[in-house]
Amino acid sequence: LDKVPSDIEIAMAQTPKPITQLAQQIGLLPDEVESYGKYKAKIELSVLNRLAHRRDGKYVVISGITPTPLGEGKSTTTIGLAQALGAHLGRPAFACVRQPSQGPTFGIKGGAAGGGYSQVIPMDEFNLHLTGDIHAVTAANNLLAAALDARMFHEATQSDKALYSRLVPSNKGKRAFAPLMLKRLQKLGINGIKPSDLTPEEINWFARLDVDPETITWNRVLDTNDRFLRRVTLGRNPTEQGHEREAGFDIAVASECMAVLALTTDVLDMRERLGKMVVATSKQGEPITADDLGVGGALAVLMKDTVKPNLMQTLEGTPVFVHAGPFANIAHGNSSILADKVALKLAGTEPGESPDRIGYVLTEGGFGADMGMEKFCDIKCRVSGLKPDAVVIVATTRALKMHGGGPEVTPGKPLADTYTKEDLVILKEGCKNLQRHVQNSRKFGLKVIVGINKFTSDTPAELELVRQEALAAGADAAVVSNHWAEGGAGARALAEAVVATCEKESTFKFLYDLDLSIEEKINTICKEIYHAAGIELSELARKQVDTYTRQGYGNLPICMAKTQYSFSHDPSLKNAPSGFTVPIRAVRLSAGAGFLYPILGDMQTMPGLGTRPGFWEVDLDPETGRVVGLF
Ligand code: ADP
Repeated sequence: LDKVPSDIEIAMAQTPKPITQLAQQIGLLPDEVESYGKYKAKIELSVLNRLAHRRDGKYVVISGITPTPLGEGKSTTTIGLAQALGAHLGRPAFACVRQPSQGPTFGIKGGAAGGGYSQVIPMDEFNLHLTGDIHAVTAANNLLAAALDARMFHEATQSDKALYSRLVPSNKGKRAFAPLMLKRLQKLGINGIKPSDLTPEEINWFARLDVDPETITWNRVLDTNDRFLRRVTLGRNPTEQGHEREAGFDIAVASECMAVLALTTDVLDMRERLGKMVVATSKQGEPITADDLGVGGALAVLMKDTVKPNLMQTLEGTPVFVHAGPFANIAHGNSSILADKVALKLAGTEPGESPDRIGYVLTEGGFGADMGMEKFCDIKCRVSGLKPDAVVIVATTRALKMHGGGPEVTPGKPLADTYTKEDLVILKEGCKNLQRHVQNSRKFGLKVIVGINKFTSDTPAELELVRQEALAAGADAAVVSNHWAEGGAGARALAEAVVATCEKESTFKFLYDLDLSIEEKINTICKEIYHAAGIELSELARKQVDTYTRQGYGNLPICMAKTQYSFSHDPSLKNAPSGFTVPIRAVRLSAGAGFLYPILGDMQTMPGLGTRPGFWEVDLDPETGRVVGLF
């Protein structure tokens, strides 16, 4: 361990190449590149049209076993593998990763740029503002929150007539009905009229959205771990005339706007999704959307530049797209569809070109394969229409030993001896966790490569045991990788295994059909992926399922919100538990992003700061002015 300097020291010691140079090397035209400083650029989506004729590159999702709270190296492996393919095997290779939130960067876990000699640089720019996408998401989310509270205030304090003349949303300067108002008119059998056809008096009866304050699901957001904002009282100034209400803040990346960005397929699709986001229910039981508040267009304007993927580079100068960062528990935790699509075209081949020239796109899914990979397949690929060729499951002896009965692994505390000394008995027991992830991946028709992320204390016998257990479970390949200590050179064997495995035909399929009922879809994931005996819906969850089915949202895919520390809903059930019943506390809707999310336990959507936060180390070096202390 001593040989390898800290992540930020390694990152700062390498001078990145100008981003325009990298852009040219990967085949982008000057017009397609919008530089943000020297080392970052946004890429215009017009490249998708220019390269539409190309055959896509190979598409590989990087996932992992059930992790410890320290993380088992998915990001590090994604970057290491991209370096190996791109800088050592001479293949076009793109890593596609999420933009990290400031919450974990300054909290316990640190940044998400990878680690050791497998990192994205400049690491400080990657971990902090990047090109401002999270700021734009925050702005859009909070404009919608403000629009909702202001609307409720005006509806409570003004006459129908005043409301109508001011509150019917406009469409390019013309008055237009909000979608909810149109639906109400249609219900009354009145079709094809414009606002100008009616007098304000005639339509008094639908001027109000009539938000039921008890049903508001839209929180304000901030990209800071600020636990004291979890619950707040709004509207305490006298100007709000006593219209106070209890509300809360989430971390910005938990915003539905972020999930929309990650799942959108172009700017107009994003506009439509933002407009469809549901913020509350009316007193009549109808869903109220951003477009009902007349704010969908403004949200799209605030977020219009976010759709362009951000290009950065690895320590070895290979390309990385950093784009979108939806929270991995209540959202789907995968980077953007658009970045993957752009990368697949840039890595692709021209008609007639030898298939040997095909490149690779390595995209990371958050949390273990039961979460990130399942959502990648059933949500992200369903929207994108893309078919992955293989999955890499990252495993460490550390996490496997914990599953095999090793003591808790706690951030900030030294690891117990079990983890630093050879212990083949508990390691073998813990391999059941890896085996289940391998077997689950096969249910999606994917080829499986197990990447064993080597730590300095791992012994040859331990690494060989994990390899054998992975192969016994049906992995197509299992390879030890030392990219953390050696960069791309250390992941050469893993890269070769990825190339060889992607040669084989995969038969990708979804786990469930969308036309099953909401309950059947949840049940399928719990039984097939988690190995539960069944599910139990709370009374509230059952009511929500009925409401969403009635409102026409029953055919959406399911985004399970559960702990990443167990296959089950209970973080203390380690390894490969089975036969448990999964309690579904509630079911929520992300109508714009396009999924329903069942809540399986207490999901924290605004993390807090601990007694030993990461920001203690962060500073500007007084001599060089450079950032120190990020990890
Ligand atoms: P994940 O993406 O799975 O959460 P990361 O790639 O972010 O995990 O790695 C978590 C942390 O562990 C990072 O700080 C990284 O530098 C460190 N790390 C990863 N692989 C190794 C390794 N092989 N040896 C030592 N530290 C590692």
